[in-house]
Amino acid sequence: MVSRNMGFANLTAGYLFPEVAKRRRIYQEQHPDAKIISLGIGNTTEPLPPHIAKAMSDYAAALGTEAGYSGYGDEQGLTSLRERIAAVLYPGMASADEVFISDGAKCDIARIQTLFGSDVELAVQDPAYPVYVDGSVIVGAVGKDDGNGGRAGVTYLPCTAENGFFPDLSKIKENSLIYFCSPNNPTGVASSRDQLNALVDCALKKGCIIIFDAAYYAFIRDPALPKTIFEIDGARKCAIEINSFSKLAGFTGVRLGWSVVPSELKFADGSSVRQDWNRVMTTLFNGASNIAQRGGLATLDEEGIKETKALVDYYLGNAALMKKALSGSNFASAGVKVYYTGDSPYLWVFFPGCKSWNIFDRILEECNIVTTPGSGFGPAGEGYLRFSSFGHRKDVEEACRRLADLRF
Ligand SMILES: *Cc1c(COP(=O)(O)O)cnc(C)c1O
Repeated sequence: MVSRNMGFANLTAGYLFPEVAKRRRIYQEQHPDAKIISLGIGNTTEPLPPHIAKAMSDYAAALGTEAGYSGYGDEQGLTSLRERIAAVLYPGMASADEVFISDGAKCDIARIQTLFGSDVELAVQDPAYPVYVDGSVIVGAVGKDDGNGGRAGVTYLPCTAENGFFPDLSKIKENSLIYFCSPNNPTGVASSRDQLNALVDCALKKGCIIIFDAAYYAFIRDPALPKTIFEIDGARKCAIEINSFSKLAGFTGVRLGWSVVPSELKFADGSSVRQDWNRVMTTLFNGASNIAQRGGLATLDEEGIKETKALVDYYLGNAALMKKALSGSNFASAGVKVYYTGDSPYLWVFFPGCKSWNIFDRILEECNIVTTPGSGFGPAGEGYLRFSSFGHRKDVEEACRRLADLRF
């Protein structure tokens, strides 16, 4: 018999989203007339902007002609797309040969684990996007759940209302891999320049590498907030950025992302991280879809930038309506706290004295609205719900009316 990768035995059962779906299904079966609205998912809902959709359909049609056909593309991804990403998003910060095109940020986060030894220490925000830890469990860098929300090999960094959802960096061990997401999923908080300066300083002093997940950068509206870690001095020596067209342009189903690995970034033995990443991306991956990459190019031209701003503004408009509803007197008098600054698609909402799953059930039963329990993203998420602004406006407006009628 063939032996199993024991990393899989150390994973906890996929609990959060299947459990959300199950509770929704059971409620719907018991109440067939209920019109359930989902504010739970982190999936985009609005159509692709026309200029971007056309770039892809034109390219796809041309693939059916001799003149327009192409097979495998350039290593690292379409050169013109890498150049455009570098020029538009990282001017003076990174060059095209440091940009790698992929089929999405989640896939890059999974593949990146192959770069580091299985004895690497991790530091992650709590709450966090689950793939940072789960991917590390699969490759054996991290042990099993110790039953108290901990795991050998991981330092959890609580991000709470008390610390402004920015962790205590003194907890980070030397030579760690730091997963950091800003604007954050699920808290919606975008870290300030001072905070990111402190993070980079800490990484440089302690010999750490930061994996910076900037998948929601397009939602940042406060001009003082950095949109990439490479706006921070010193980041080129200690950070990798992972990014995506998913939330920027509605490419959750199209699939396109990129990573930036600066040439200065080195492992302990002095070898180049970029060089090994190039090896991973050309050995374990064979390029993103050429159709998707044409969509990426169109996303970052003048017309595409206008269109995607309008698309993201639409979701931000939803979030503003939800913030207003969740800040109503019915919520405020129950001590409910809405954390939302207008720079992300997620509202992070605290219900004092409640368990996340209990308040999830109440809002499902009394408002027929699906949310996401904060505790599913880590122990520091207990008592919170995440409300997602990805939805059609008319559904969000209806959800807001129902929330206004909720009595505690
Ligand atoms: C949605 C999301 C991504 C994007 O993943 P893709 O694979 O590019 O669709 C990355 N990071 C976080 C935190 C996300 O929520």
